[in-house]
Amino acid sequence: MTTLEIRDLHVEVANPDGNGDPISILKGVNLTISSGETHAIMGPNGSGKSTLSYAIAGHPKYTVTSGTITLDGEDVLAMSVDERARAGLFLAMQYPVEVPGVSMSNFLRTAATAVRGEAPKLRHWVKEAKTALGELEIEPSFLERSVNEGFSGGEKKRHEILQLGLLKPKIAILDETDSGLDVDALRIVSEGVNRYKERENGGVLLITHYTRILRYIKPDFVHVFIGGRIVEEGGSELADELDANGYVKFTQAVAGA
Ligand code: ADP
Ligand code: MG
Ligand code: MG
Repeated sequence: MTTLEIRDLHVEVANPDGNGDPISILKGVNLTISSGETHAIMGPNGSGKSTLSYAIAGHPKYTVTSGTITLDGEDVLAMSVDERARAGLFLAMQYPVEVPGVSMSNFLRTAATAVRGEAPKLRHWVKEAKTALGELEIEPSFLERSVNEGFSGGEKKRHEILQLGLLKPKIAILDETDSGLDVDALRIVSEGVNRYKERENGGVLLITHYTRILRYIKPDFVHVFIGGRIVEEGGSELADELDANGYVKFTQAVAGA
């Protein structure tokens, strides 16, 4: 069993105007995710959800000023981005980067090599990749395209879930995996996440501001995220309440505090 533990996390970014004070974004986040659990973080735009995922992934723009992140007791904040991936953390980005000139096929095999510590045997790899593509209803020609270049929103998201299936992380952080998906793509992507959960008994952190993906991927825990911290926690019934009433009750409580 694996546990990702986030304690009293504070994160800031440099002020975009260059000489102003840094901007504080996360203001004391506490969250524990273990194998087999699905957590949903739900909150309005600008509440700091992506900042949380970047801080876990080790994005250089986001500075942790206090608090801790550990994976089975190991200090994640002391690890490089690559070490985090090797330790079993996976981040699917809200805005995946394009890498012109690098084929998906090479990219995925390189990523698998980095995470597994040795290059997968070519014959096995081709089989493995084809099976994973088939499960996500992706054309085999996808492997010859440049990474994320000219991908539609839906293709980018499928690519993330393809990585999830091939890299088999211990804890997966999926930031807005549902944004820009039509109903069919949402179902295919959700089934991919559910397969990952079943096969790997992985822990999943689903970050979203819509409740619709939670019809396909049932969260065990729902955390309401406002103003850089978790302000309410519950089970999947909390997502239903947000669906019906929105965030108003919580944003007002934060504003009045
Ligand atoms: P969410 O994912 O919940 O929409 P973000 O984490 O993207 O929220 O952003 C939270 C707040 O921090 C926003 O006000 C955003 O403008 C600000 N922010 C995020 N990243 C940066 C950055 N690199 N530079 C300046 N401000 C940022
Ligand atoms: Mg946003
Ligand atoms: Mg975001």
